[in-house]
Amino acid sequence: MSELNLILLGPPGAGKGTQADRLRTDFELPYYATGDILRAAVKEESDLGRQAREYMDRGDLVPDDLIGQVVVDRIDSDEARDGFVLDGFPRTLGQADELHRALEGLERHLTATLLIEAPDEEVIRRLSGRRVCRDNGHTYHVEFDPPKNEGFCDQDGSVLVQRDDDKLETVKHRLGVFHEQTKPLVELYEKDGLLRRFDGTRSPEEVNGHIRATLATLRLEEQL
Ligand SMILES: [Zn+2]
Repeated sequence: MSELNLILLGPPGAGKGTQADRLRTDFELPYYATGDILRAAVKEESDLGRQAREYMDRGDLVPDDLIGQVVVDRIDSDEARDGFVLDGFPRTLGQADELHRALEGLERHLTATLLIEAPDEEVIRRLSGRRVCRDNGHTYHVEFDPPKNEGFCDQDGSVLVQRDDDKLETVKHRLGVFHEQTKPLVELYEKDGLLRRFDGTRSPEEVNGHIRATLATLRLEEQL
């Protein structure tokens, strides 16, 4: 069986998390979200984790090459032998280059970069309409999934609030950062023929179907 070495890209609110979950279960691939594995390395007190911690304790950003090493450490493990899903790495062209060289060193290569797209106004509509119940975290959407009594949770009557992350100005800012960071990566992987685009405005089932069909084709091509 050929490997599935995947990168997942997409703006917040385009359903990337849902698709990551599907990939994990459908193909039994380990999922590496950069933040999570960095925290795990720190907790395990591995060599790299200790180095990363020094930066974090000082309130500094962990440098690209160190994050790269933590990621590569994971990729070069038994659990990732048949492939992996990367989320949040690479974030820069430098990191992409690092990943490319590391994979080459392991005699492996990227299968594809999956870009789940959604127009800004759709992302804004989805995220800024989200409400969460303060007591138990039940989620609603003012437009797509409103509670029976406006402002209150159906299940426990607690007040519904908007998370700071979902506030309009924050969403706009997150989108700006996303576009700025992602554009060069999209161009790079497009040029390399590795980019596959998916319409994040479709239902999660449809997007999942398209991703599965794409991966099946890629695997067939690899076997030829
Ligand atoms: Zn509730």
